[in-house]
Amino acid sequence: MYHTNELTSLEEELSKASKKGMKIGLVPTMGALHDGHMELIKQARTHTEYVIVSIFINPLQFNQTDDFLNYPSNPKKDYNKLKNAEVDLLFSPDAKLIYPKKPSVKIDFGSISKNLEGALRLGHFEGVGIIVMKLFNLIKPNFAFFGLKDLQQYVLIKNLIKEFSYPIKLIGVPTVREENGLALSSRNVHLSPTGLTIASQIYKGLVWAKNNFESLQSAQILVLKLKNFYNKQKGLSIEYCEILNSNTFKPIKSLQVKGRITLCVAAYVEGVRLIDNIFLKE
Ligand code: AMP
Repeated sequence: MYHTNELTSLEEELSKASKKGMKIGLVPTMGALHDGHMELIKQARTHTEYVIVSIFINPLQFNQTDDFLNYPSNPKKDYNKLKNAEVDLLFSPDAKLIYPKKPSVKIDFGSISKNLEGALRLGHFEGVGIIVMKLFNLIKPNFAFFGLKDLQQYVLIKNLIKEFSYPIKLIGVPTVREENGLALSSRNVHLSPTGLTIASQIYKGLVWAKNNFESLQSAQILVLKLKNFYNKQKGLSIEYCEILNSNTFKPIKSLQVKGRITLCVAAYVEGVRLIDNIFLKE
């Protein structure tokens, strides 16, 4: 595996791969790699001949300094995991290379970025937009792989690719979970064994909702019942619990509407913020 943190060798390696006619697949990450990231890489391997993983903890997408400073990082372990997974190139630039100065351009994704994560983490999606565009422009991948765990982010990037005419095929990878259902996340390392068990109730609630929504009349009733379930879980504090159109991210009132519907949840366990979602109707 070739590892670089600078641009000249990145370009050289990419042009070698392109000259060989290889399709390039990009998996953007912030490191502290787990099996969710590895699944993205596996998908990249099946779709493309040349797989690039980027590791960059993007300061622009954190709205709380503490969260940024405490974000887990394990470069050595990550390097070994990527090498074992036969990744072709690891790009791990530092912030000065990516942002020689604070960007003055702002990317506004419109209404889709204003609720859920966009409402609670001000500036988050603007930061995501800038780093993703930078990576797309520097790497020019044929395919990009993003997790459906961050569904709002996935939908925003789908819009970005379409509206800016990037010749990139976006692949959304289903959420990888622990055996107890907890969605894998780099932030899970901050949870105690008890915290991990409490956090697994998030998915239990989502599965209950999926199994029961058809017998309920409205989204409001479903959310109420789900919140009741969550409120009974000691140590679990729900931040939001919303039912939305999976494509537009607009809230939904009736569960009988046509089209794809998703239930999204954000919660705190032991001070760690966790998000998850489930497609109610696909
Ligand atoms: P992060 O390093 O948290 O920025 O995540 C990098 C990519 O991995 C994003 O596209 C995430 O949506 C994806 N991802 C994170 N956790 C999971 C998971 N449990 N299953 C699948 N993809 C994931």
